[in-house]
Amino acid sequence: MARLSLYNKKRDFSLTKEPAGKVGRAKGNSFVIQRHAATRLHYDLRLELDGVYKSWAVTKVPSLDPSVKRLAVEVEDHPLDYGTFEGTIPGGQYGGGTVQLWDQGTWTPKLDEQSPQEDLRKGHLKVELDGERMHGGWALIRLREKDKFGRPSKRESRNWLLIKEKDDAAQYGEADALLAADISVKTGRTLDEIAANKNGAVWNSNRGDAAEARAKAKTSSAVSAKKKTRKTPARRKTFKKPASKKRAKT
Ligand code: MN
Repeated sequence: MARLSLYNKKRDFSLTKEPAGKVGRAKGNSFVIQRHAATRLHYDLRLELDGVYKSWAVTKVPSLDPSVKRLAVEVEDHPLDYGTFEGTIPGGQYGGGTVQLWDQGTWTPKLDEQSPQEDLRKGHLKVELDGERMHGGWALIRLREKDKFGRPSKRESRNWLLIKEKDDAAQYGEADALLAADISVKTGRTLDEIAANKNGAVWNSNRGDAAEARAKAKTSSAVSAKKKTRKTPARRKTFKKPASKKRAKT
């Protein structure tokens, strides 16, 4: 099965503004986290690998406390264009709800630097994140599926754990510290403002945002000092005015 066919199958692109899935060039190492107010609020972690985003839905805010494990449910690969998506998925559509770009940056594999694919297959990936909110080492550990007798089985589970590693970026006893971060790293908007389509931010897959974001991600360490003093969100000028047809409200 082609790598993004599941992604495409789940969506009706005549109804949702999410980008249709195309496999990109296999070079980048960007990551994004999208805060997604769907049936339940969750955090979608996406790591760029081989031209797609490997993706997990993290059921609670990532914890900076290494003793706190977060469930991260593996979901279908997403296209790289998804990495700049912020907006509302119409109710009734797959993933219906508001999507906020909550973090972005680059990642590097910490165990098998040459073949994170192999670590992923084995269900044991350690990454270094260089984002605006997520920093330092993080582990993704796949849980074992159990058989009908409750014994660990060989079947691969879609359930992983996301765990902060013990390093300078860890914050002990502050499991939910990142809950305070509730505005978009791209547009500075809250989920409610995105839902209300304030500032006319409409997802448009033809604008080349993804390419820009990837180029920016590659140089993010070089410009991170500058970014911290930024007053207005970057690239607001690339948004267009609210479309005349009303977006479905969820
Ligand atoms: Mn989601």
